[in-house]
Parts: sequence; structure tokens; C-alpha cells
Amino acid sequence: MAKKSETDETALQHLLLDWFTRQRRDLPWRRTQDPYAIWVSEIMLQQTRVAAVLEPYRTFLERFPTVQALASAEEAAVLAAWSGLGYYRRARMLHRAAQQICSSGNGRIPLSHAALLELPGIGRYTAAAIASIAYGEPVAAVDGNVERVLLRLRGWGSEDPVLHAQHLRRVQQEAARLLQPASPGDWNQAMMELGATVCLPRAPRCEACPWMAGCATRGEHDAVRRPPMRTEIRNYRWQTRLSDGVEQLLLIQRSQAQTVMPGMWELPPVPDTPGKPDELDKPDEQNKPILKLRHAIMQVNYRIAILRGEGPAPADGRWVTAEEAATMALTGLARKVMRRLGWLPTGSRGPSSGNRP
Ligand code: SF4
Repeated sequence: MAKKSETDETALQHLLLDWFTRQRRDLPWRRTQDPYAIWVSEIMLQQTRVAAVLEPYRTFLERFPTVQALASAEEAAVLAAWSGLGYYRRARMLHRAAQQICSSGNGRIPLSHAALLELPGIGRYTAAAIASIAYGEPVAAVDGNVERVLLRLRGWGSEDPVLHAQHLRRVQQEAARLLQPASPGDWNQAMMELGATVCLPRAPRCEACPWMAGCATRGEHDAVRRPPMRTEIRNYRWQTRLSDGVEQLLLIQRSQAQTVMPGMWELPPVPDTPGKPDELDKPDEQNKPILKLRHAIMQVNYRIAILRGEGPAPADGRWVTAEEAATMALTGLARKVMRRLGWLPTGSRGPSSGNRP
């Protein structure tokens, strides 16, 4: 006779997989077994919402349909195709890993979780997701969504920083214990889907959860505390000119020594940025912003003012047309401002997506 924990486990597996079969969202990376396409989707989905990934995923794969195409591309072209997704280190690592596969291997993506971990930018979660979905390797993928589901399901306390390593080990072990070895790819996706659509961070929809009957907390659980966002102010200059009847915009390139977004193109920052958020609401009349917007990166909420600029271009500046800008590795903020000011069409993303009409 099976022990109780085994029957619990089997019941949980059936309930979740049945639910996933009925409720799974039809997403493009779920219609393929191609490890390269799954890998690209997993990297894009890190810290980015599904809705924001759909269009970039399509255009990125159009532009770089194979690992060989990605490996042979210039880094600037890869960053341009990534523009708007943010966290550009992910694109650099993806590119580097593709080059490693094509230069040191036979151009084939490694076939196991352990071998995938050798590639730059692929951590434990991503390797597990690719190996289980593309190759059916029975290894549990634990991201923030899965961690939250397991904490609530088992009624374990929120993360205690002192016990961090111990905590992660416990969650990882539980994920491995519950994993359905006959269909690990579906299992991992079902766990992620449950966390992303039902066991939501602030208000879990327990009434829609297949595990409600066996859940230890049913939503009565502290979410893991995140550090509060802080607010910073940034001003940028919007300066255009006409050259042979064509409008050009002044951009500058961030230095390669910058830790964030090195080498990418942005609007020239205005050094005299006011120090308090309230000051943006009371601009002096002569320097009134032509656009104000918010832009969040990691734990910082930026309040941005775009001011009309004039005068000579800085040494690292470059005048570009809208057609040229559309093919450049722009920061997400620069692209957002250009779209809001009608300088780039909404939805433009890199060289393959068309230019300003
Ligand atoms: S019952 Fe509620 S809290 Fe428990 S796993 Fe399901 S959604 Fe999460």
C-alpha cells in the first residue's frame, strides 16, 4: 500500500496537470520543442511580463532564427533587437553563449541540465527549464513564482535572510520531490503557470486553484518582502536639427566602462537635475519639459523630464535620422521617449521592424 505522502504527491500531480491541460495559455514558446527558441523565451521572460515579451520574441527569432545566426551577429545588432526589454546583460550573455556553442562545440545546444549550466547567462532555473521542456530531463525549475506557490502550499514561513541558503535548498528539494518525472516539461510549466496566473503575489485566486483543498495557507501567507522602490529624478535633452531637409536627433553613446547598459545610445543627460521629486511639478517657465514620464528600472522609479536642448553637440554625440535610430542599440528609455514624441513609430523594435514613415 502506498504511503500517505506518496498518495498526496500523486494527487497533487494529477490535479495540477489536469488544470494545466485545461487552463494553459497558448504562448508561442509552448508550440515548439526547439531548444534555441525555448532558451530565448526563458531569457526574455526573466524579470519581464509575458505580455511584454510576445512581440520582441517574435521579432528576435525572425532576425536571429538559429543559434548560428545569433552567434554571427554583431553585438550592436543583438542589443538593438533587444531594445525595450531592458536588462541588456541578458542579451549580451545570450549572444556570448551562442558564440561559445558555435566556436567550441558543433553548433548544437548542449543536451543536458549540467552542460547547459556551463554556458554564460544560464543559471540553475533556466537550465532546468530548457532541459525539461526541450529534452524531457526530469529536473525541477524553481523561479520566484514556483517558490511562492510551494511556500504557500506547505505553509512554510517567508524567507528569513539568515536562513536564506537553507530556505532555498528546502524549496528546491520540495520542487524536485513533487516533480512529475513522466512529463517534467509540462510539470514545470504548470507550476510556473499556477504562480503567474492564480497564486499571485498580492491576492492569490485560491478559488481557482487546483490545490486549494490541500493548501496549508490558502492565501493567508506573508509575501516575501521586497525592498521599497526609491524615486530619482533624471532630465534629458531633446535636440533636433535639419540636415538636407531631413530631421536629425542628437544622441550620445554610454561609455563601455558603465556597469549599466554600456555602449548603448541615449538622449544626452542634463547635468543640473533637480534633487527632489516635487521640483518636477514646478518647472520654471523657460525650461518647461516637453515631456514628463516615469520609468522603472530594478528598484528605482525614475521621474524623467525631457527638455528642449540647444548648442553644440558633445564630443561623444551623434546626429541620427529616425531611420538610423530605429536600427541602433537604444536604451529602453530613449526608445520610449522617441515613441512618445512621435519620432519612432509605436512598436518599432530594431532593424527588422520598420522605420518612421
Ligand atoms: S490555494 Fe491559494 S495560496 Fe494555496 S497554492 Fe493555491 S492559490 Fe496559492
